Formats: sequence, C-alpha cells, structure tokens
Amino acid sequence: MHNHSDGKIQKLISLCKRRGIIFQSSEIYGGAAAAYDYGPLGVEIKNIIKKLWWKEMVYDNDNIVGLDSAILMHPKVWEASGHVENFEDILVECKECHRRFKKDDLKEGKCPECGGVLTEPKKFNPMFETNLGPVRDSASKVYLRPETAQGIYVNFNTVQKSMRRKIPFGIAQIGKAFRNEITPGNFIFRTVEFEQAEQQFFIKPEEDEKWFEYWKEKRMNWHLSLGIKKENLRFKKHEKLAHYAKAGADIEYNFPMRWDEIEGIHNRGDWDLSRHSKFSGNDLSYFNDETKQKFLPFIIETSMGIDRTMLAVLLDAFEEMETRSGKDDTKHEMETVLRLHPKIAPVKAAVFPLVKNKPEIVKKAREIYENLKKYWFVQYDETGAIGRRYRRQDEIGTPFCVTVDFDTLENETVTVRHRDTMEQERIKIAEIEEFLRGKLA
Ligand code: ATP
Repeated sequence: MHNHSDGKIQKLISLCKRRGIIFQSSEIYGGAAAAYDYGPLGVEIKNIIKKLWWKEMVYDNDNIVGLDSAILMHPKVWEASGHVENFEDILVECKECHRRFKKDDLKEGKCPECGGVLTEPKKFNPMFETNLGPVRDSASKVYLRPETAQGIYVNFNTVQKSMRRKIPFGIAQIGKAFRNEITPGNFIFRTVEFEQAEQQFFIKPEEDEKWFEYWKEKRMNWHLSLGIKKENLRFKKHEKLAHYAKAGADIEYNFPMRWDEIEGIHNRGDWDLSRHSKFSGNDLSYFNDETKQKFLPFIIETSMGIDRTMLAVLLDAFEEMETRSGKDDTKHEMETVLRLHPKIAPVKAAVFPLVKNKPEIVKKAREIYENLKKYWFVQYDETGAIGRRYRRQDEIGTPFCVTVDFDTLENETVTVRHRDTMEQERIKIAEIEEFLRGKLA
C-alpha cells in the first residue's frame, strides 16, 4: 500500500477494519497488493449504493435497460476498443530498487523512493492477460476486462432488437473491472480489481450536446442524493481527450489527498459502434423506422467507480471529535461518528434492552427487534453500558437506536436516540415501524 499520507484516510482504514467494513485481501498472508475485501457491513453499504444506482438508471427511466455481460470477451474486442493500442502507460523502472513509476508522475530523473537511476521509458499495458483453454499460446490469449462498457457496445444490436427500443435509449450495467495499475493506493481509491457502474446512452448524433449536459447534471444530482456535501463535489472538464472522446467531464470529490475523479461523463461519438462494426464485420447501425434512415448512434457514457464512490461517501460521513458524552453515560477520549445518510447506513436501527437482568425488558426488546428485522437490517445488542452501545452504533453510522427501559413496561413507549444530534424522543412501540419508514424513505 502506498500514498496513505493523509491522516483521515488512515483513520478510516482502521475504522473499516475494526468494524467489519473493509479488510485488506489475504491479510493473514501479509496482504495482496491493492485488493480489498468488503466485510459484513461493507458489503451492505456497497450493495445499497449499487441498488440506488440501478433504481435511478433502470427503474426510474423508461428508456434504460439492464445488462450483465461476461468479464472474458473475444480478444478482438480490445483491439477494436483501442485498449490494446492506446491503453498504455509509459513507465520507467528504478535500476536500484526496481520500483516502477508512471513517467508522467515524475518531475526529476531520479527514483522518488531511493534516488536511484531510472531506465528509459517503456510502454506497459495495464490489461491483465490470461489464457483460455489448456494451451498457453498467443491464440488462446484473453484479457480480464478493464471496463464494463465494451460488453454493452457489442450487445447494442441484440438488446435494441430484443427489447424493441427506439433511440434515444440506454443500457446500464454493474460489474468488476481489472487494471494492473502501476500506482495503486489510497485505500480503495485505486485498486487492481474494482467495480464499475456504467451506462451507455445511444442517441442521434445531432443531439449529443443536449444529452451530454443532461447526463452531467443528472449524475451530479445523484451523488448529492447519497448525502455527499455539495462543497465536496465539482465538475472538471477534460482538457486532454481520450482517443474515443469528443467531450468529457469528471465529477470530482474533494479527497483528503486532492480533488479527484469518482465518475466520468463522456461523449464518445460513434467511435465504439463504428469500430465494432469494422472489426466484427457486423453492421451495428440503427434503422430509424420513421425516416427510413440508417445511422450509427452517438453514445453518451456515464462511468462510475462503485468503490471510489463508496470511499467518497465514507470520507464525507466520517467525523472524529472530542467526547460528546455527558449526555450519555460513558466518557471516551475521542469518538467517531459515521454521519451516513440513513438510506446508506448498513444497519438501519439498533434495539437495546436498558438492562439485561430484567426478563420483561429483554423480552420486549427482542420482540421489537424481531418485528423490525422483517423489513430492515437491524441489530440487537444487550452487552455493555448503554452509552457504549450507542458509541458502537455511531461508529458504523446507525441512524437510530431504540431502547426499552422500565417505563416501557408501564406505558408501551421506547426511547429513540438520533445519531447526529443525540436527541432522544419517546415514541409508542406501535409507531416505531412507521417512524423508521418515514426517516428511511
Ligand atoms: P484514473 O484517471 O483515476 O485512472 P480513469 O480516468 O482511467 O481513472 P475511467 O476509465 O474513466 O477512469 O473509469 C471510470 C471510473 O472507474 C472512474 O471514475 C473511477 O471511479 C473508476 N476507476 C477507474 N480505475 C479505477 C481503479 N484502478 N480503482 C478503482 N476505481 C477505478
């Protein structure tokens, strides 16, 4: 792991490990470079983000459909896409310590790690190669996809015909992508295996500017809807365009190390469909029934990293502060609160019996827990002082804690404690479900 220069990322890494959110891959073997595992709570957050994206794209838009294409594709796909030719980094290697660096990242001709002499720049392609079948030769060579988009382009005709879509329409998919990154780092910001959520919107060429602006706004609003603070998001226009692009803009997050991309929105013109038509020998043009004209649609792409977005969400929600106690009954030096939007929080509510040696209280608390469990991922916790239990839930971002106490036995009410304000309100047991439903909507 490199580049963990910033304290906030370090603190988040340790919270994620301690609380079952994200672990380094193969840690008992010393860790696998630049790969991470999502723990029991991390997989919840990640799935929630994926579901929200899918809903926004596929369910809320009549003209976008879903897809789940294979990771391994015909090797010619990557020739057509330009990845074999253009998707290369220029690298130099240190002759002393043998570390490799992107030429672009270096200011001086010396190794930034040890000051050693560097080799001449060499080309390096970040696609992972493997072989299909028993023989390892060039004919059996395949790649792990470095992006999910190509699976959409090659299916353009089949999806359009089978789903009887008219332009404009889009295809959305979420899936793993792999890049043999030279400079992985900053936790899950840049890893060699990651997930993308990509949507390709097929349009009439003359409408490209309109749709480009449309998708930029729509995607920015979606990131805001996750609860990321407005001042931590911005657009950045691409000055240097990729080989496929006519225009591009990034949505950037204010990461502790620097502002950097979480999603790219690109006007890809007809590059992809024309290249795949040429390389496959199959015409991927679209036939317009009304005008009886055939044309190659332009594509506006929205390409987001799930892991990187999750990192932005976690960093944005992460807050460490001097003890907030006094109100609750334990004192801690420093406290951590993950101020996640309730819809992103992995655990929606926690239910506590105030004491565990009073069977009526425990029974009531368990009843409430069993009921809420039918609708949400909730936790039951009876161990330790109540203040400590609140702290544990604050750390994982649980927005509400429901406590059953002696008064509950008298009047069928519980205390609901709010994570962010620590305010407590008394509500009827019969109303908890509706209360949560309202807050989580
Ligand atoms: P970068 O310049 O940071 O390498 P990129 O411009 O190559 O990114 P794209 O090819 O546009 O990225 O990929 C779209 C999205 O996929 C990015 O916005 C990012 O969120 C995510 N992504 C790309 N590479 C990685 C990686 N190595 N690890 C995690 N996420 C990644």
